[in-house]
Amino acid sequence: MELVLATNNPHKVREIREVLADLPIKVLTPADLRLAVEVKEDGATYAENAAKKARAVAALTGRPALADDSGLEVEALGGEPGVRSARYTGEDASGADHIRKLLEALSGVPFDRRRAVFRCVLVLAWPDGGEETAEGACEGTITFQPMGERGFGYDPVFLIPEYGQTFAQMEPREKHRISHRGRALERLREILAERLAHHPH
Ligand code: IMP
Repeated sequence: MELVLATNNPHKVREIREVLADLPIKVLTPADLRLAVEVKEDGATYAENAAKKARAVAALTGRPALADDSGLEVEALGGEPGVRSARYTGEDASGADHIRKLLEALSGVPFDRRRAVFRCVLVLAWPDGGEETAEGACEGTITFQPMGERGFGYDPVFLIPEYGQTFAQMEPREKHRISHRGRALERLREILAERLAHHPH
């Protein structure tokens, strides 16, 4: 089976490929198909944005399409940056810019009030119009400074207190086991496995 990801974000693509690696699925990106997909992520929720992206790519390619919309919600900031996590410091800013702004916004906030949750909503759109949704969340704490080199986005400041490590310090396999995206993909795996059992191609 071929599955087109409704993203060209190389980090998301890598993570999704890693988690689904053991399934007989060829994971493609719009770039692999030489398609330029521009979907405005102006929905009020992760689910809305993910559905919009997945539907657009399924319609364009005639193949099943998988979209990820995700974000970081920081309790002390009333859930910000949330659905706007990718644009926290402007359209073309990097993870390092976002992190700088986030740490500034949290300056003076003590450890026990730096709780945050990463959320991921996956929408799988079938070319016939059907849709599946899977969600995952992961709780952590925002550190006082970046730690670790792996991962992407806010990973260097997202600490899992039980592990004493940020997402950027973990082996990818460890991150996927507990991350918002890893958990959402685990749920989606059952749906994909079922479909593969009935329609292997
Ligand atoms: P979007 O889903 O394209 O709107 O972007 C989500 C944004 O949330 C990303 O650009 C990252 O900044 C952040 N984000 C989502 N998942 C992760 C993750 O696993 N690690 C670090 N940052 C993430």
